[in-house]
Amino acid sequence: MRSGKPRLIRQLNDRSVFEAIEEMGLSSRAQLSRITGGSAPTMAKAVRRLRELGLLDEVGLSSPDGAGRPGRMFRIAKVSSQVIGVAIDCRFCQVTPAAIDGSYSREKVITIKTPTDYPSLLREVLKAIRHVADHGPKTLAMGIGIPGMVDSRDGKILLAPNLHCLDGRRIGFDIELETGIKSYVLHETLASCLAEQSYGLAKKREHLVLISVLEGYACSAVVGGQLLEGHDGMAGEMGHIPVDVNGALCGCGNRGCLETVATDQSLARRISERLGRKIEIEELIELVSSSKIDITAEIADTLNYLAIGVAGAVNTFNPELVLVATRMFDLAPNAFDDLISLVRQRSVRPLVNRCQIVRSAGDKLQGGVAAALRGLKNSLGPTMNWK
Ligand SMILES: [Zn+2]
Repeated sequence: MRSGKPRLIRQLNDRSVFEAIEEMGLSSRAQLSRITGGSAPTMAKAVRRLRELGLLDEVGLSSPDGAGRPGRMFRIAKVSSQVIGVAIDCRFCQVTPAAIDGSYSREKVITIKTPTDYPSLLREVLKAIRHVADHGPKTLAMGIGIPGMVDSRDGKILLAPNLHCLDGRRIGFDIELETGIKSYVLHETLASCLAEQSYGLAKKREHLVLISVLEGYACSAVVGGQLLEGHDGMAGEMGHIPVDVNGALCGCGNRGCLETVATDQSLARRISERLGRKIEIEELIELVSSSKIDITAEIADTLNYLAIGVAGAVNTFNPELVLVATRMFDLAPNAFDDLISLVRQRSVRPLVNRCQIVRSAGDKLQGGVAAALRGLKNSLGPTMNWK
């Protein structure tokens, strides 16, 4: 902890206290003083400011050490305020309220079919956001996951290969203008990666990669504890590496990108061609689980390409953990094991030997929530090592 008057020191203290409560859960000011090394008056001021901002709930009195006067207990807000998480996707958009600790309830999620033009999409998403904002406590921030490349400097969506109506739009700015709620926009997979590191399987991991092929092919990495965003916030577009130069046209304009051959959508497209009618991945899962169709060959091909992508990420980032999100694991009982052995064959051995590969739900909505909470925390002030 630091003491003194400058604004930066106050910001550092506020952020440290917030992070200490995140780490410890329910905490008293005395406990926080001990943990962070801050004086009692400094702690009282920081806790008061965080309470005023709506970031903490006060949850009664306690004497946790069994000695001394009972102290007020605080936790990261679950009832005093909320954030809104938004996941915009090619087929469906989802909006949810979430607590400041990142938790949200599936029952409160609003799902809408994604309109094909931007004005309708903005109107429908705004309607859901207003509903959530009007039916909960004060909304402190909003996080929006986008299936496309977002310029982190001005929030402009430069390219959404599977939802072109977003190209050139600044949806965070447009939503903020209409609602007055501070909005943070991130590529959906950067957001999901952030969520896994903040609340999920990769909690506190320093080197990880998330690959999601649920819709397009998206990859994002945390390197040295930091989300790898690149110069413009667009790092990780490994899905647009061409693996078949004469292959199908990709949404990015090239041919034969990984995205055209290694994703759930590419698998559904192949089966659609075989059946002569368009089917989505959900229907495909139904058909396979009721043994009405055999897709062994197509899954093997798709996993082969996915393994090239995963092995490329293992070789490039040297992660300790790779999370893979695909519905193919629901389509074939051995799909996960097959993928692992293919990745092992295709990666550089010392790298893959030290890397754990696990399934991820690739929760895009949790990604939107994580983007909101990261923005909120960064607005408190810079982080410092208070431990
Ligand atoms: Zn492409």
